[in-house]
Amino acid sequence: SRPMPDLSLAELLDLDRRHVWHPYGPMPGRQEPLVVEAASGVRLRMADGTGELIDGMSSWWSAIHGYNHPVLNEAAREQLSRMSHVMFGGLTHEPAVRLAKRLVDISPEGLEHVFLADSGSVSVEVAVKMCLQYWRSLGRPGKQRLLTWRGGYHGDTWQPMSVCDPQGGMHELWQGVLQRQVFADAPPVAYEESYADQLRELIERHADELAAVIVEPVVQGAGGMRFHSPAYLRVLREACDAHDVLLVFDEIATGFGRTGALFAADHVGVTPDVMCLGKALTGGYLTLAATLCTARVADGISRGEVPVLAHGPTFMGNPLAAAVANASIDLLLGQDWQTEVKRIETGLREGLAAAADLPGVRDVRVLGAIGVVQLDRPLDEAAMAAATRAAVREGVWLRPFRDLVYTMPPYVTGDADVARIAGAVCAAAREG
Ligand code: PLP
Repeated sequence: SRPMPDLSLAELLDLDRRHVWHPYGPMPGRQEPLVVEAASGVRLRMADGTGELIDGMSSWWSAIHGYNHPVLNEAAREQLSRMSHVMFGGLTHEPAVRLAKRLVDISPEGLEHVFLADSGSVSVEVAVKMCLQYWRSLGRPGKQRLLTWRGGYHGDTWQPMSVCDPQGGMHELWQGVLQRQVFADAPPVAYEESYADQLRELIERHADELAAVIVEPVVQGAGGMRFHSPAYLRVLREACDAHDVLLVFDEIATGFGRTGALFAADHVGVTPDVMCLGKALTGGYLTLAATLCTARVADGISRGEVPVLAHGPTFMGNPLAAAVANASIDLLLGQDWQTEVKRIETGLREGLAAAADLPGVRDVRVLGAIGVVQLDRPLDEAAMAAATRAAVREGVWLRPFRDLVYTMPPYVTGDADVARIAGAVCAAAREG
């Protein structure tokens, strides 16, 4: 049954096109989005009667347990019956406290304090604010720039935009207006001492003006789906310590098992000074993000002239989202998630091997529950739409982007569905 029986599918799409902005979309809309009616397990049920699509995207890294999960549904329902939201100024509640403690327990050793924001971009804003304020409090206000890697993506709000890839990236329009940050080349896949030296040298050279280095550890996501050696994280940690620079890991995409480790930082046992989490934090159910920091950062801030972290969004610590996050973490850690992620990794490796021989394919790479086919050339808008349609014909939802056809399926995706997803990635790459 249609959720809006008084609205035909054509009317819904027309209203959508005329009134609703989509991510990075024009107004009015040019492309017809597919209408999804419901979702359960790893399947999206489409409203146009074409049936179901297997979700190859986990709704942008987030739906790790799939959709309509009975445990998460129950956690939401239970919390809803108590209190869906309450302001966090002057009040606190068990779901948020429980979540903060849990995140401290499972995150890299030394992260102790948790700011519960409402989206990934905001958690990055908070992270940057923490770092700048830390140095201000210590009497070094000149340290206010950030060093990052080219090819990165940290969100669409103002400060995160300044550390996204500056060229051909999604925010090129704003380059003249954004704070000018220090960019290092994107890290190579394998460890190279010469590149490590380049990082050390850049950090040393800019130390007086750098508040922090901010990177996506191990996998650079939306900026290019690049993988790199975790050993670079240790290089960053050492160089930051040597030159009085804070280190921020943006684990919004990589957190909660996606790369095969619970957090990407765990691949090398490096603790950043600040860490951002989001996306899969609630199993993709509700919008929630977290910024964790060490005692050093919090103590520094509290020694300043303004001894508070001046940030407090309306939906900070939202109890509904926090309750679902607690259930999602329990669900993840209560199972052998490493085996599931490994299983998906193996399935994607097997299924995507065929893509390596396709014309126009530059690279095929798989890590954890992430599979990427990189093409020789970026697809234009029409080709991206054609590649998406090719995947849909295979019964799979993918969102090819520029020169990338990629998948990060829910961890509950069965072997046969992983194979179908891989087949659809190949079909989409062939179309491109
Ligand atoms: N940082 C990384 C690494 C991301 O992948 C994203 C989301 O795509 C963000 C930050 C921004 O998160 P949000 O879209 O929730 O604001």
